Amino acid sequence: MGKKIKSALRSFTSCSGCQTELLNMKEAFEILTKFNFVFFPLIKGEKELDKYDICFVEGAITNKDQIFELKKIRKKSKLLVAFGTCATYGGIATISDFDDKKEIVEEVYGSGINKHSLKKVFGIGNWINVDYYMRGCPVIKTEVLEFAKGYFKEKLPNEHLYPVCVECRQKGNRCLLAEDHLPCMGAITYGGCKALCTSEEIPCQGCRGPLPTADVSARVKVFEKFGIKKEDIRRTFIKFAGTSKKYRRIIKNLK
Ligand code: SF4
Ligand code: SF4
Ligand code: SF4
Repeated sequence: MGKKIKSALRSFTSCSGCQTELLNMKEAFEILTKFNFVFFPLIKGEKELDKYDICFVEGAITNKDQIFELKKIRKKSKLLVAFGTCATYGGIATISDFDDKKEIVEEVYGSGINKHSLKKVFGIGNWINVDYYMRGCPVIKTEVLEFAKGYFKEKLPNEHLYPVCVECRQKGNRCLLAEDHLPCMGAITYGGCKALCTSEEIPCQGCRGPLPTADVSARVKVFEKFGIKKEDIRRTFIKFAGTSKKYRRIIKNLK
């Protein structure tokens, strides 16, 4: 690629864990240099540019000012990437949508602030067109590297359109759902993480979000068959992608 590209990482409501994950990679320096980040909140701020070749967006959209800012970023960016589960589905911040939001906000921030908070928290795709989704809470190193490689070869990697269960079985793990009756979301969640949690005997929490083909109602029935309580099923579904189309309706029925 001849001319040096210009990139930015912009962050909205998040824990900044996805940018931290990138900085923790041993390849971080190479990636930051190749993409020529002019803005990266944890390490580098510069004045706003009129155009970016690529913008990585981290975090959920939780207030009106952020929608305005996000739309501005979209206009400036040739390629826009949702970086992590908060940006893809709203992530952890969506949990507040399923409880008394006012009470939560007051508990955390005290009264009188956050007047512009939206009623529902969504990922960025609810407000703008997104060119590429990089899932995970946080993003996964191998996928960041695959993306970087693909970008400079002008061929972005395909999504992992198979469930976590596939990688879990390939690794020969014990099934935590069938054997321990734990609410594991592996069967309906995007693979690609190499069954990170289930390999440590922790049930998949669904951080990479629902597969388009996931039969969510059938999964709830399986959970119920294994005696998992409705409240525990609900808690699992609202954790990362509760406001996604796939999960919204099912969560209502789990009250
Ligand atoms: S996706 Fe997870 S790690 Fe990344 S910013 Fe959101 S909460 Fe943090
Ligand atoms: S432990 Fe979870 S991810 Fe692994 S096979 Fe069982 S349901 Fe699937
Ligand atoms: S096993 Fe599930 S919760 Fe754990 S990283 Fe993979 S998708 Fe996320």
